[in-house]
Parts: sequence; C-alpha cells; structure tokens
Amino acid sequence: MDSKAIMSEAEELLMKTYNRFGIVLDHGDGVYLYDNDGKAYLDFGSGIGVFALGYNNKEYNDALKAQIDKLVHTSNLFYNEPAVKAAKALTKASGMDRVFFTNSGTEAVEGAVKLARKYYYKKKGEAYSEIIAFEHSFHGRSMGALSVTGTKHYREPFEPLVGGVKWAEYNNFDSVLSNITDKTAAIIMETVQGEGGIYPADKDFISKVRKVCDEKDIVLILDEIQCGMGRTGSMFAYEQYGVKPDIVTSAKALACGVPFGAFAATEKFAAAFEPGDHGTTYGGNPLACAASAKVFELFEKEKVLENVKETGAYLSAKLDELTDRYPIIKAHRGLGMMQGLQIDSSVKVGALVTKCIEKGMLVLSAGGNVLRLLPPLVIRKEDVDKAVSIIEEVISDN
Ligand SMILES: *Cc1c(COP(=O)(O)O)cnc(C)c1O
Repeated sequence: MDSKAIMSEAEELLMKTYNRFGIVLDHGDGVYLYDNDGKAYLDFGSGIGVFALGYNNKEYNDALKAQIDKLVHTSNLFYNEPAVKAAKALTKASGMDRVFFTNSGTEAVEGAVKLARKYYYKKKGEAYSEIIAFEHSFHGRSMGALSVTGTKHYREPFEPLVGGVKWAEYNNFDSVLSNITDKTAAIIMETVQGEGGIYPADKDFISKVRKVCDEKDIVLILDEIQCGMGRTGSMFAYEQYGVKPDIVTSAKALACGVPFGAFAATEKFAAAFEPGDHGTTYGGNPLACAASAKVFELFEKEKVLENVKETGAYLSAKLDELTDRYPIIKAHRGLGMMQGLQIDSSVKVGALVTKCIEKGMLVLSAGGNVLRLLPPLVIRKEDVDKAVSIIEEVISDN
C-alpha cells in the first residue's frame, strides 16, 4: 500500500482519538526512523520515551526471536523463567522487594493505587480512603488512572470517576499538607512531570513529602513510567533525590517496545495483596519479560546511564544556549534526556513540531506549550548537534 492509501484507510478505520502527523513510519535503525518513501527522521521522541536502546538493536531483536520460538505466552497460573529474570532486574534497579507485571503504564498506576488502598483497608479495617494527586500530572487513561490525572479536560467528560481524590499543587508542600486527613491512603506523583510540561520535583519538596508519608504511614507512589529506566541519568529519577518510594510504577522503556509495565513495592506494602486481589491474563508473559530482562542487560553492557549523563548534559547545555539566544523560548527545564523548552504562547508548539518533522526530525510536545525532547538514550553528540540545529532553524523562522 502506498502512504496515501494507508493514511486515508487509517482515518476511516481507527477511532479519531489522535490528530496524526502525515507520515507513515516503516522501519528504524539506530536513532533514525524511516517512512514509507524512505525518508529518514532523527528520532527525538522514541515512540514517547519507549525505544531507549535505539531501533533494530541486534541483541534485543535476537532475544525476542529466541523467546518467540520457545514460548510467547503462558498464564500466571504457572511459573516461567523470563518473569523471574525480569523481576530480579527490576527489584535490583528500583530497590523494591516485589513486583507485579502489567501490559501498560496505565495498568501499572491502576495496580499501584489498588495496592495502596488495600494496605489502608487492611490496616484500618475500613474502606473509603483518599488519594492526593497533583495538578498537571499524567498517569493514564483508564478510569482509575484518569481519576488521579491532573488535566481537567481529560477527566471531565468521563465523570463520575474514582472518588476520594484530592488535588495538590506540584512543588508546593503546604498544599500537600492541607490535603492530608485521617483518611489519606496515598500520595501519587511523577518524580519529573512529563506530559504536564517537563517539571522536575524540587529536592526539598520531595523529601518533605517522603517525611510526612513516613510519619503518617501514607503510601508514597512515585510514577516513573516516563522519567524512570535511565531517562534522567539514574535508573530511577528518585535516586538523584535521595528518596525511595513505597510503590514505584514503570513502563515505556521497561521492555523497549513490547507492551509492558510494572508496579513494584517494598515488602511492607506489597504484603497487603493476597491471592485474588489482583490479576492479569497477559501481564508478565514470557515474551515481554524476556524483552525487559534483555533491556536491563543491555543497559549495563552498552553503558547507557553513562551516556545519558554525558550526552544528556551536552544536550542540556546546548538547549540553555538556545534559550539565551531566542526570546521565544521562555524557559528550559529537564533532567538527563528528558528535556523541555517552554515556547512563548504567541507560537503554537504543535506548529514547531510539524516543521521539525518536515526537516527530518521527530520531536514531541507537552502541556503548557512545551517542546519535549525524549531521544533514545543512546544518542551521541553529533545527533544532539543535528537536532539542536534543526530546532534552531525552525525557531528562527518564527
Ligand atoms: C505514559 C505515561 C503513563 C501511561 O502509560 P501507558 O503505557 O500509555 O498506559 C502513565 N504515567 C506517566 C508518567 C506516563 O508518562
């Protein structure tokens, strides 16, 4: 099928939940994606923070092919070795004790909130607990995950959602304190807000939240679906803050493209779940787990964290320079390879994204008119130079 036919049939067949860009992607190699007509795109979006290792990584592909020939799926009624390997790698990297595997980030959030509520229920012998969530947060699109997502226009058409959610202002500890009651079961937050516009938590804020959770036995859930898995220069962003959550959620780069997610918890909280409390047919199947186990292995082998620190710092410095030179860039925020440029409201960020694509570079937007950069974690300095010069061309056209 040619590109035009694919696009027009997609518009007829798929629900209209996205305004798609007019290209059909066909294959990828390294940090480049290629469309149906063979045009190359430098990828600074990684399929929304997913393909951390770059495309067409031979060892990753071979591991998947080998697992496909052995066993793609079995149920959670039996044991399988890839699940143990993936769980070992994730618990070690996160500092958690037990994990539950899911098929997406949304499901990971869903499960984390259920676990927190179950912990409260067991402890107090009563239901109806409250959860504190944050403005501008993003946790997913299912009814539960949507209930703790801070963007009102995502939520409103689907109300009534899950009850007992209170809203606090991110990086404002007083606003958290004023929402805590005897019924608070959990506080859920991204360590670095992604979709909301790339806002890293303040160190002081997150340590105060940790402290109040300890004092009041409130479950701290850190959503690291976007900012985890090496994205900020440590396997999980909270390591750089010197705090540890009680439950962490992960997905996106966790298996680098095979649909996969997880929530992991320390023993004290994980112990709240008993047989029958939660389940999934696909979650933790051998194919996804083999992919994830291989991702952890390749992170070490290819020294991915070192590259995020070094090349991420280079990227950040280049974006600082751009911010200084172009008044249309109002602010630059980010950690490692999770970077955002806040664009003046006179220019729509979507238009800039379209122009970058025309010039052969894929990039994302985020809330608050932010140009969001989530490149594969294996980019080199020359990729940064190329990306920054494309962004500069596009911005100086305005
Ligand atoms: C993407 C994302 C989710 C949702 O993950 P899906 O895999 O799309 O369901 C949840 N939380 C954060 C922080 C995310 O970035």
